Amino acid sequence: MNLALSQISKFIHQLPKVELHLHLEGCVTPEFWLSLIQKHQEDSHITLENLEKRFVFQSFFDFMDTYRDIIFSFQEPEDIYHLTKFAMHHLVSQKIRYCEMMFTPFFFVKRGLPYREILNAIDSAAREVEADHPIKMSLIFDGPRNFGAEIVAEVFEMAAGDHTGRVIGVGLGGDELNYPAHLFQKEFEKAHSYGLNLIAHAGETDGEKSMIDAIQKLKVSRIGHGLGITKGSRLEALIREKNITIDLCPGSNLATGVIDSLEDHPFGKYYQKAYTISLNSDDPGLFKTSLNQEYLKMAELHKLSEKDLIQVILNGISGTFLPDSDKRILSTEVESYLS
Ligand SMILES: [Zn+2]
Repeated sequence: MNLALSQISKFIHQLPKVELHLHLEGCVTPEFWLSLIQKHQEDSHITLENLEKRFVFQSFFDFMDTYRDIIFSFQEPEDIYHLTKFAMHHLVSQKIRYCEMMFTPFFFVKRGLPYREILNAIDSAAREVEADHPIKMSLIFDGPRNFGAEIVAEVFEMAAGDHTGRVIGVGLGGDELNYPAHLFQKEFEKAHSYGLNLIAHAGETDGEKSMIDAIQKLKVSRIGHGLGITKGSRLEALIREKNITIDLCPGSNLATGVIDSLEDHPFGKYYQKAYTISLNSDDPGLFKTSLNQEYLKMAELHKLSEKDLIQVILNGISGTFLPDSDKRILSTEVESYLS
């Protein structure tokens, strides 16, 4: 059944959801950033207006510059604790039941913040929110490909040595064009030997080859963004054969300028072809979006029915690294919304 537009937003909001492609650092809003700057520099003259200008991106590299400057404002583990709480409440308010949240510890460790305290801060904040709300959060450590294989290896070692039980996997983010997936094959093999789950950003700024590399060389089970899969291609066959989940982030791709309009995003095409696609917000603070808004935008653009919306959520659940029993419970709850 197709819903009237006015009803879609309400329906989306009611549905229990999962988010598979969300960066903790990307949850920073201009307001949060300002509070962080003011906390550490009492004489700062930076205004909200100054910061909001930094959230309009001319290119993917422009976005990475703002991302880097945000990280520079974090001075102590307590800042990360507050960000985690902020991010978790944002998820709860959208009825997100489970999130595999990406985090890049290297950025903060490089600034001199102690790794163990950083992870404790995230874990404490998450535990406090989980105790009061029906939500669970797992962490995936993102290897920053721009810093090379040695640093990515260090990040993966951090994930393997996790003392909280919250880190379930590793990924690869950053500049895909200049730091292709195959450079990190050894590091992914090692992470696999540690029992970590594997994902990678692929097909965000580079095309099919990058995705083939991520699937074949890194052996990931999910790819983030996945733009540019063509019909009848070797990549399409691989995606079906390996049952790869494609974590789509349309609002992010529009904000960083890798697509010119939402109409250019392949969500509709991929859904028609029955690829296993999930819908995600990526960096909702930076892109002024939310998961519910991403669902709403796709629902309006592609005239999605209740059944379609539920199918995309079920795809996401199947792509998580949750145990099968948890997947079944969550899927049954989502299916109960089908009238
Ligand atoms: Zn991402």
